[in-house]
Formats: sequence, C-alpha cells, structure tokens
Amino acid sequence: MILPSPLLVATGNPGKLREIRAILGERSPGELHYLREFVGYVPPAETEPDYLGNARLKAAHAALELEMPALADDSGLEVDALGGAPGPRSARFAGDFATDALNNAKLLHDLQGESNRSARYRCVMALAFPDGRLCVAEGVCEGSIGTEPRGEGGFGYDPYFVLPDGRTMAEISAEDKNRISHRVLALEALLRGLQL
Ligand code: IMP
Repeated sequence: MILPSPLLVATGNPGKLREIRAILGERSPGELHYLREFVGYVPPAETEPDYLGNARLKAAHAALELEMPALADDSGLEVDALGGAPGPRSARFAGDFATDALNNAKLLHDLQGESNRSARYRCVMALAFPDGRLCVAEGVCEGSIGTEPRGEGGFGYDPYFVLPDGRTMAEISAEDKNRISHRVLALEALLRGLQL
C-alpha cells in the first residue's frame, strides 16, 4: 500500500487540487476525499512563517477534525531580487483578498527595471494522520520571471514563470507541468518515503 485509504486532499485551491489528482492518477487510494465535500469545515489560518509549518498545520488540522489521513501542501514563488519574496505569502502577496491578477501585477511592479529575474517555485507536501504521525517532503522548480504573460494553462504566477527552455509554466501542457513542477517533485518524494 502506498497511500492510506480513505485519504483527504486538504486544499481549497482548485488549481492545486487538479494537479494533485492528476499526479496521483492510478495511485489514488480507493477512497479519495476533497475539502469541498465537508462544507462545515473551516481550515486554519496560515499563521506559520514557513512552508513546512503551514503544510503541517493544514494537514494535521484536517486529519484531526475530519478523522482521516490528510494530504496538504504549502507552496510559493521565491524571487531572488526580492529577497525570496513573496515566498510563503505568495497567495496573499497583494493583500489578504488578493487575486492571481493582483498578485501578478504587484510582482511585475516590484521587479520593474530589475535585470536579475531568477526565481523558483517551492512546495512542501505533508501527510498527517489522526494519531499525530506526519510525513513531509519538498520539491523545487527553477525558472525566472518574464515581463509579459504567456499561456493559458496552470494558475497563479504560471503565465509569468519562465522555464529554462523559454516557455512559461502556463504554455506547457498540464501533463508536462505535472512532470517537472515543485508539486510533483514534493509528492513523488513523499510517496518514495512512504514506501521505505
Ligand atoms: P498556499 O500554498 O495556499 O499558501 O498558496 C500558494 C500560492 O503560491 C498560490 O496561491 C500561488 O499564488 C502560488 N503558487 C503555488 N504553486 C503554484 C503553481 O504551481 N503555479 C503558480 N502559482 C503557484
């Protein structure tokens, strides 16, 4: 057995959910649940300063409250010229009620005139059990920040995230993103750890 069943994918972000489902594919446990099935459940505020703390918080809270193993990720974009920002605050870079469009506008604004545009996506994936056990793993995907949006795929910062081959993360297919992304690398590392 690789993953426990039932398993809850503890994210309210539809982009992440789509990717995690696709990455698991036929390795999905027999019984897979999603956060939106539990309408009364209120996820914890992401109060921790780092990805590990927030991933652990989201997974452990859901596992305890909903009484089943829960998988959660915390991820973000790190831009070198911005000292690693937005980092764990990527979802709220432009404010507490920011949209992807507002976050991207702020990113471009903050990088105006900057020649060093190197960046990376980072993801920490956590699997928590109701009895307190926890497994975690990390994945990183290197790139840089472009000056105009390209592509329709992905979500968040993807139209501006330029891969080493020159295409943006939003220009490649979902299948290709799920071969190279920080999220797939973290999830595959987690699965390898579970098999040990
Ligand atoms: P959180 O992990 O829910 O705190 O938020 C992660 C945020 O990082 C997302 O809302 C996006 O802004 C950004 N992010 C994480 N992964 C990706 C990705 O694969 N593509 C684009 N943006 C991402």
